[in-house]
Amino acid sequence: MIELRDVRRHYAMSGQTVHALAGVDLRIEAGEFVAITGPSGSGKSSLLNILGCLDHPSSGHYLIEGRDVASLDDESSSDMRNRRIGFVFQSFHLLPRLTVLENVLLPLRFHRQPPPGARDRALALLDRVGLRERRDHRPNELSGGQMQRAAIARALLLQPALLLADEPTGNLDSRSAADVLALIDEVHAGGQTVVLVTHDHDVAACAPRQVKLRDGKIEHDQKH
Ligand code: ADP
Ligand code: MG
Repeated sequence: MIELRDVRRHYAMSGQTVHALAGVDLRIEAGEFVAITGPSGSGKSSLLNILGCLDHPSSGHYLIEGRDVASLDDESSSDMRNRRIGFVFQSFHLLPRLTVLENVLLPLRFHRQPPPGARDRALALLDRVGLRERRDHRPNELSGGQMQRAAIARALLLQPALLLADEPTGNLDSRSAADVLALIDEVHAGGQTVVLVTHDHDVAACAPRQVKLRDGKIEHDQKH
């Protein structure tokens, strides 16, 4: 489904060059659940941002379903990012002025006309993550675990083929983290492809495949 070929990402920092990704080759098949692990600074977020089309490689290729993302025009590329990929972040990224339901409906902001049934789908997702009763609340009235579950519902609204999560349990207590992981596991069980970034070994152990980064390179790639 997705493939990285000798992907490198450099950042220029006050005259210095940081090699965040130093030649990554990776293939992920449709329906896989992969954990990307590695110490802080090893390139995990840089890698995930490229997978999510939020950033582009300095060199090398990123292919989605056989097509090089660099060859897509702006419209296809933003279409890919908005409809085919769901993103979950460590700090939730919910908009504070919107209600929980409005946050879940945010992926529709680029649609001229919301697809029929979108609101019903948002409510069904809120049911699934245990937040239907909270739909009219603002994010600051929720616990961290609830905010992350709302963010997951939002990421799933447009039924993306690929769900990307960057340290989704990083700000949560262990019980909320377990709830969030159970939810992510359910997404995978439903057939969606999941890539989860974490520096926590217990979290990574939830995924059948673990890819470990060190200094911007894959140190090992193992399946259980
Ligand atoms: P991780 O998510 O594993 O902690 P990152 O991908 O965030 O790693 O960072 C990898 C390296 O790239 C680090 O040395 C980091 O400081 C550097 N880096 C990441 N993003 C930027 C940026 N926008 N500008 C400059 N350096 C960056
Ligand atoms: Mg990171």
